[in-house]
Amino acid sequence: MKIIENKQIAIVGGGPGGLTLARLLQLKGVNVKLYERDLNKNSRVIGSPLDMHEESGLAAIRAANLLEAFKKNYRPGADRMVIANEHAEIVYSDHDSKPEEDFGNEHFRPEIDRQALRNLFLDVLQTETVVWDSHFISMEKQNDGWLLKFKNGTTAYADLVIAADGVNSKIRPYLTDIKAFYSGITMLEGNVKGAKDNAPIIAKLLNGGKIMAFGNEKNLLLGQKENEEIGFYASFKTDENWASNSGLNFKDNIEILNWFKTKYPEWNSIWYELFENTTAPFIPRPIYCMPTDQTWKTISNLTLLGDAAHAMPPFAGEGANMAMLDALELSENLCSDKYVTLYEAISTYEINMRHRTAVIAQESLQNGELMHAVDALQNMIKMFTIDFKQD
Ligand SMILES: Cc1cc2nc3c(=O)[nH]c(=O)nc-3n(C[C@H](O)[C@H](O)[C@H](O)COP(=O)(O)OP(=O)(O)OC[C@H]3O[C@@H](n4cnc5c(N)ncnc54)[C@H](O)[C@@H]3O)c2cc1C
Repeated sequence: MKIIENKQIAIVGGGPGGLTLARLLQLKGVNVKLYERDLNKNSRVIGSPLDMHEESGLAAIRAANLLEAFKKNYRPGADRMVIANEHAEIVYSDHDSKPEEDFGNEHFRPEIDRQALRNLFLDVLQTETVVWDSHFISMEKQNDGWLLKFKNGTTAYADLVIAADGVNSKIRPYLTDIKAFYSGITMLEGNVKGAKDNAPIIAKLLNGGKIMAFGNEKNLLLGQKENEEIGFYASFKTDENWASNSGLNFKDNIEILNWFKTKYPEWNSIWYELFENTTAPFIPRPIYCMPTDQTWKTISNLTLLGDAAHAMPPFAGEGANMAMLDALELSENLCSDKYVTLYEAISTYEINMRHRTAVIAQESLQNGELMHAVDALQNMIKMFTIDFKQD
């Protein structure tokens, strides 16, 4: 604890990684502020629900003393999976074999909505830990630390800055010039509210869980969200600038439905209700990955975690889990008496973090290839029926 005694810590970014770190440091009595660009805690966090893994996300939640709160807020059954072909014919389902609750089992990956996960942490952080409406734009050296500058004109001093501001991190360039590369895959996100009425066929097929549908190098990935909403992604290989080059109006359901019919010509019309009933706009998400051999020189007053450090494709469901494990490991190093200097504590954290996440990013890239291959359906059936059982 000596190395950060009387030091002011600034975390920039209130995603899963930043919030976990704020909580874990606060539990150990550290002076910590979290600067988040969202205007307030009611700003809606967008994106698909997250599945938490026993050895990473759930380990961090346990360390944060939040497992009981998690159990009250996760979505039982949302981790159950159906694999289908382009005709919406089910080729694999674990709905009858997977228990609703199995905490402690390494294969149990409970799903939680992003907003619910954020609220778990906001509910227990001391008041005024999170400084909302703090859109970081730049920082300059001051004494041994940094003076951070925000879009709204405010500034803040910190002895140690931790960048948790996601894949487009504005702080990362202060540490390294290495940039993420485009994975070759873009995911087009849509969300259908009141899915029982608005997309009844798909809602029945989904049955509160997840669907992965594969056909001809393209796929549709669907998941249950809160308030009977279905979130889905049409995922396919294309150019990095597909969204702007396509000329598509992402606010126009009919235009996007027609695009789907052209892009996914072999796919059954059952899927159309998703596109017809999405609450526009659709959101195109080109998927990026940090180079797996990246490295940078440690400095003792700035470090990175989560997507800011190691953004990776979502095809192994690991990004948020790795961000939360980063937070757990970094908090342990910063508060340990084992290290004599901050440099040593941060350097050890960064070396381990880069090794750990390089392996996972490689796996995510490989899964992306398997899921967008001509034989994607066979690949995924094999993965779920053979590989998972052997684990
Ligand atoms: C389609 C898709 C599906 C995914 N599914 C999964 C999954 O199932 N499981 C999983 O583990 N991961 C999944 N991921 C990955 C996961 O979303 C990310 O890895 C995770 O959110 C990273 O957490 P983070 O805290 O590092 O950053 P983020 O979640 O990106 O949070 C960054 C925070 O910083 C704030 N911020 C950004 N810039 C600034 C700034 N300049 N100033 C102040 N604040 C700023 C943002 O508002 C945000 O709150 C998925 C990703 C995608 C795209």
